[in-house]
Formats: sequence, C-alpha cells, structure tokens
Amino acid sequence: MEFTADFFDASSKAWMANKIKKPNATYAYKCSFVGIDKTPCSAPRYKDTPVCWRHRGSLKQIKVADTKLQPDSIVLTA
Ligand SMILES: [Zn+2]
Repeated sequence: MEFTADFFDASSKAWMANKIKKPNATYAYKCSFVGIDKTPCSAPRYKDTPVCWRHRGSLKQIKVADTKLQPDSIVLTA
C-alpha cells in the first residue's frame, strides 16, 4: 500500500469525524446521539458516557454497538 498525502488527508478526516479538537492539543469524542433526521450531535461527550450532557437522558436509545467505547480522548504529540 502506498502512503500518499491524499491517503493521510483522507484518513485524518475520517479519524476526526467523530472527534473534537480541543485547545490543549487533545481530542475528545463527540456525542454518539443521532437525531431523527440523521443529524449527528457534535457536542463533546459528558464525562465517561458516550453522549453529551444534553443527550445523557437518551442513553437507552443508543445501540449496543456504540457502547464498545474507545478511550475517551487521544493525546497527540507533534
Ligand atoms: Zn449530544
């Protein structure tokens, strides 16, 4: 496999798709809640839940697949 600039650009975008870049160079996962109109919530997750503060009451509606959570944030060093 060839690792071109395009490849990294695309994978970076995909990697960022469910994360939020924070000012201190860490990344937080976004809320897993997806609205009725299929619009995903982009708020940061609330504590160690898979959803944000606003959607924490909707946890029961989230599919089991989403409960296989990765570490809540990943720290990137330059
Ligand atoms: Zn939310």
